[in-house]
Parts: sequence; C-alpha cells; structure tokens
Amino acid sequence: MPDFDYDLFIIGAGSGGVRAARTAAAAGARVAVAEDRYLGGTCVNVGCVPKKLYSYAAHFHDAFEDASGFGWQLPGAPTLDWATLRDNKSGEIKRLNDIYGRLLDTAGVRLINGRARVVDAHHVEVAGERISAAKILVAVGGWPWVPDFPGSEHTVTSNEVFDLEQFPKRFLVLGGGYIAVEFASIFNGLGSDAHLVYRGELFLRGFDREVREFTRDQMATKGVNLHFETNIERIEPGDGSLMVTLTNGETLEVDAVLSATGRKPHLLGLGLSELGVELNTDGTLKVNERFETSVPSILALGDVTGGPELTPVALAEAMHLVQQHFSDTSARPLDYQNIATAVFCHPNIGTVGVSEEQAREKYGAIRVFRTDFRPMKHTLSGSQERCLMKLIVDDESDVVVGAHMVGEEAGELIQGIAIAVRAGLTKADFDATVGIHPTGAEEFVTMRTPSRT
Ligand code: NDP
Repeated sequence: MPDFDYDLFIIGAGSGGVRAARTAAAAGARVAVAEDRYLGGTCVNVGCVPKKLYSYAAHFHDAFEDASGFGWQLPGAPTLDWATLRDNKSGEIKRLNDIYGRLLDTAGVRLINGRARVVDAHHVEVAGERISAAKILVAVGGWPWVPDFPGSEHTVTSNEVFDLEQFPKRFLVLGGGYIAVEFASIFNGLGSDAHLVYRGELFLRGFDREVREFTRDQMATKGVNLHFETNIERIEPGDGSLMVTLTNGETLEVDAVLSATGRKPHLLGLGLSELGVELNTDGTLKVNERFETSVPSILALGDVTGGPELTPVALAEAMHLVQQHFSDTSARPLDYQNIATAVFCHPNIGTVGVSEEQAREKYGAIRVFRTDFRPMKHTLSGSQERCLMKLIVDDESDVVVGAHMVGEEAGELIQGIAIAVRAGLTKADFDATVGIHPTGAEEFVTMRTPSRT
C-alpha cells in the first residue's frame, strides 16, 4: 500500500487500540496511533486496574474482621489512609502508562498526542498534521453518561471517583450495573456508609436471577444500604455535604454521589457523522464481522462498537481485526459465545454461559445444579459470608451451558470453568473430574443431584 503514509492509523491508545497497533506492526504494517488523553485507555486509567486495586484495599476490611477467629490480635481498630491508597494507585498507573508507551515504541509504532479528526475515508488530521492511511481504526472507547436531574452536576463519574480529594465517609452510587455494585462494595469495604440507589426492583439486570438475589443478600449483610425501585430526584449541596432526595421521598445526606448510569461512545469531534458513518440505534458505531464501518476503510472495535464492554473482548477483537486485514483475510469471524465475566462486588460474581432464565427459553428442558454453603474459612472467622455455585445443563445433550458463582475469588475460579463451558463439555465430564480438596471450587465437580429441572 505504497500511496499512503501508513497502512493503519489508529485513533485511541486504549486496550484495543494498543493491541491492534502492536499486532499489526508485528505483521509488517506501518502503524501510527493518536491519543489525546492517557495511554491504556479506560481499563488502565479509570477502569479495571484502579478498580481492582481499590477492591483489594476494601477486602482488607474483611480480612481484619476475620483475623481474630484465627488467633490474630490487632493492636487497635485499623484505619484507612485514603491518600496513601489513592497516590499509590496513581504511581502504579503511571508505571503502566510508561510500559504502554515503551511497547508502542519497541513495536515501531508512531504515537501522536492529540485528538484525531477523520476528514475522509483515508485521511486524518491530528496535531496540525494531515496524514493518509490505507485503513483508519476507531478505538476511542466510551465515556460515562450522567442523566439530567436537578443537581446532577454534583455527581462524579468513574472518571473522577478514584481521585477524590477527601475520603467520602458517606457514599452513594446511582445505578445497578457493574460499576454501581462494584463501587458500593468497594466504598463499603473501605469504611464508608455506602448506599446504592437503583431504579429497578433488583440490580444486575441480565445476570442469573438467583445470582442477583444472592448478591443482594450478601451485599446487604456486609452493610451496603440498598434502595431499589427509586431514583434520584434532586441533589442539593449542603454544608460540605450533599442532600440527596429520592423519588420515593427519602432523603440521604452524603459526601459523594457516583453516577454509574452507563457509558456512551466517545465520538465527539471525530468527524464520523460528517462522513455519514452509520450508527446503531444506541449511538455506537455499526460494524460488520470484519470490523468495517459503512465506510469500509474505516474500522472500529471495542466499546465504541457496542459489543460486550470488556477489555478482553477489545483485545480479542484487535487480534482478529489485524488477522483479517493484514495477515489472513479469510480468517473466521470472532466467536462471541460463552465470554466469561466477573463483577468485583463483594463477594465477587463469576459467570459464563447462559442464566437459568435464558436456558429455560433457549433449551426447554434443563437441569439446574446449585449449592450454597459457608466456606470453610468462615467456620473460624465468624463471617456470615456464603458462597453460591450453580451449573445449568441442557437436559437433552447433557452439555453444561451456564456456570455461575458468587463467592470469594469467583473471577479467578470461573476462568477455568469457562474453558470447559466453551469446549462444550457435558455434566458427565464435570462428574468424571476428581475434585481438589479442601477447596470451594470442588463443589463444581461434586454436585450430583439436580436442585430443579
Ligand atoms: P451498565 O450499563 O452496566 O449499567 C448502567 C446502570 O445505570 C443500569 O443499572 C441502568 O438501569 C442504570 N441507569 C441507566 N440510565 C439511568 C437513569 N436515567 N437513571 C437511573 N439509572 C439509570 O453501566 P455501568 O456504568 O455500570 O458500566 C458500563 C460497562 O462497563 C458495563 O456494561 C460493563 O460492560 C463494563 N464494566 C465491566 C466491568 C467488569 O468487567 N468487571 C466493571 C465495570 C464496568 P437499568 O438496568 O434499569 O437499565
């Protein structure tokens, strides 16, 4: 492709953009990336990475409480130094930003600081330069969206919550998705009086019903104040605090309100609407199986395309896209079936495959194997935390079509189970697998009697 400055010009150096850049460069493509914010995108800077670090911090709360049953005497009540956590987190993110920069550099990818604007099917303008490329990849991700209500300007989003100047002793999160349940758990664990306000009757819409109910009960037991079937009517600033009035008439005085009400594609100023690039009904970029938009030389992947908004999905898309466009043009489309996911609320949720409700619709006859138990650790710790495990089996084929867990390290554990579910293994295969004792995980291979059909 000699007529262009680059074979691939990528807008956005997040998880998907950086992976596409490095993989394409390794395949021999001449690649440039434009980024106007931070290297690593949402995941590294204001998403997965800082969230997991704060989740670890919050888990210490349980560990301190659990310790005395095992004989440990703590010198006094542990206290959290928010500034230490926040600043150590920032140091780690800086380290990761630098690594991303070096990865691009080593791969021979040119990095340009600035917000690129697509001017036509093969040209972009960025930082005062006009650059041509055979293909342009839009990997700009999403941006938090906040509903409009009186006082909504007093809320923070996941872009700001990690860097609050003061620790919020009273914390409220609006929403019932991943971010809401994770942050309600995190701030509760860090020591806030935490409230979650959700407009529906039960959070985590789309997840297995029993998982949602179990999580609700566990989070409530841990002290999160759950307010369902209500919304924020208005927020009024008080004397250093925020007065939140809910639509059910309740008022709550808090120090910070996090709006975790979803994310929208970050397309502002990219020039794509002027080019007539087609959108899906939710405003995300419409792409085909080769990640081509309605302008075939303009590609897109990751959160901006409205698929599962998960880092590993963007990474897989990036590698697939490069294969399809730069090395093996006949490569099969990416398989989006059975993508495992974890929600880092406390306790964690790990899930792969279909929920019980989806399975009943899809397969008709199913067998449900479920157990909930007090993990061995808590026989001495005194904690009330319980663990739920659940397998959904298609009765006709005996294939395990869904696996769900709520419990400590569910995210770690479900990854292995996801391989089995993706491979289409049967309940007989699970039964033939000898357990590891004493673990909680062994329950996944020892549940013999269906709880219901
Ligand atoms: P979600 O789309 O998951 O959830 C948004 C929540 O906000 C829903 O509960 C929704 O309610 C509610 N909501 C929407 N509009 C309003 C409104 N006007 N008033 C009140 N509530 C409203 O978004 P998140 O922000 O939680 O997360 C974005 C995405 O990021 C997730 O979907 C996920 O893919 C990804 N993510 C993944 C994580 C992980 O892998 N562990 C962690 C964090 C994020 P309703 O359900 O009624 O529509």
